[in-house]
Order: sequence, then C-alpha cells, then structure tokens
Amino acid sequence: MTFERRVIMSLSEIKAMVFECNSCKSRTAIMPEKLETVPKECPDGHIWQSKFGLEHTDYIFMAFITSLKQLRAPREEKTGFKVFLEFEEPSRQA
Ligand SMILES: [Zn+2]
Repeated sequence: MTFERRVIMSLSEIKAMVFECNSCKSRTAIMPEKLETVPKECPDGHIWQSKFGLEHTDYIFMAFITSLKQLRAPREEKTGFKVFLEFEEPSRQA
C-alpha cells in the first residue's frame, strides 16, 4: 500500500515570499505584510526585471502580492469559506 502525503496550509501561515536570483541563487525573503513590490535586484546586485517578457508581467506580480495580502485578512466569516494551498510533502532527502 502506498500513501501519498501532502501538506495543507492556509494563506495566513505564509511567513514570507521568497525571491531567488537566477544568476547567483541568493534569496530575499519578505514577510507578506512588508511586501510592497518585487525587489529590483538581488542582495548581490543582479538586476531583476519584473516587467521583462509578457506585456503585463509586472501587473501580474503586483496583482499576486495585493491578492495575497488581502486574502490573508480574516474575512471567512463573510465569504463562508477559507482558502488553503496544498503541497507535496517535502522530500526528506532535500
Ligand atoms: Zn544574484
């Protein structure tokens, strides 16, 4: 018998949004309450261009940040539901 293990978390359990640099792999973690925009560079100075690529890429990042902050506010009494995210259980070898 095989068991599939998953982790389910509410949006309020998110501690930080983590940005990883494609060039040097350094990471910047920002708590959702303090997140106003996508950082413009990594801690080592590599430029991050959230507007690069698709026409509305920057808007998509900002919409995600705004949505995450607003959905974390306790409002389930009015909506009648809560939002959770489900993840594969992290590998113990990682
Ligand atoms: Zn970097």
